[in-house]
Amino acid sequence: MRGLGAQVVNVEGKQFVYPLETRDVEAAALIRECSERGNGVTTPTGQPGVWLDSPMIELLKGPGIIEKALPAMVRQFKRFDIDITIEPMLVYPTLHYQNGGVLIRTDSSTTVPNLYSAGEVSGGVHGRNRLMGNSLLEITVYGRRAGRAAALRAKEVKPGRLTLDHVVAWEKQLAEAGLSPETFSPLLLPEYTRHERQGEQSAE
Ligand SMILES: Cc1cc2nc3c(=O)[nH]c(=O)nc-3n(C[C@H](O)[C@H](O)[C@H](O)COP(=O)(O)OP(=O)(O)OC[C@H]3O[C@@H](n4cnc5c(N)ncnc54)[C@H](O)[C@@H]3O)c2cc1C
Repeated sequence: MRGLGAQVVNVEGKQFVYPLETRDVEAAALIRECSERGNGVTTPTGQPGVWLDSPMIELLKGPGIIEKALPAMVRQFKRFDIDITIEPMLVYPTLHYQNGGVLIRTDSSTTVPNLYSAGEVSGGVHGRNRLMGNSLLEITVYGRRAGRAAALRAKEVKPGRLTLDHVVAWEKQLAEAGLSPETFSPLLLPEYTRHERQGEQSAE
């Protein structure tokens, strides 16, 4: 939407960030505008947001352009009776990608013998910040490498007796470090599931 010309504006309709910043800078600016500056739109759930001025696209590029360029998004919002060609969209950042921490070699092998990894669980491929669109490239390249290397390795390995000793050792390490086994990965952002939705799901 931003690429087409939509602009992010606060509760007063004022621009507070350059609309074509990279996603991390844009997301940080949105959070800051709502928290520190208190210029977010407050919704009935208490979750703040800002406006993504989608009608601006049609003002800049002519009528029909949104439907032509982003038909799925138009349909998605229509399901909730929102016409994004005439009404702005309420937005707020959420967890989009995690630069995980598992170190991999170029063949996707890890420091754990016979364990291969690719994708968000691994770290380092993108440096400190993943550029847009590179994740699908990454999982295709490193997933293929992992599969290939694991298949070659499988021809050499003679499995011994399978045990769950490694899980027991892992749980012991967690307990010693005072970590809850419920935390599967480091949480960089706060819990973003809406609580009333969680309630609805458990009621269902
Ligand atoms: C809204 C959105 C839009 C995106 N758009 C793009 C885009 O346009 N271009 C792009 O390049 N990237 C995009 N990405 C990023 C990209 O989709 C992801 O980085 C990529 O799909 C991650 O693949 P993955 O295999 O690493 O992880 P996942 O696809 O998350 O796979 C992990 C799997 O592990 C399973 N799992 C988790 N815990 C356990 C467990 N304990 N035991 C067993 N299984 C478990 C999960 O169920 C899941 O199936 C987008 C991401 C989001 C959220």
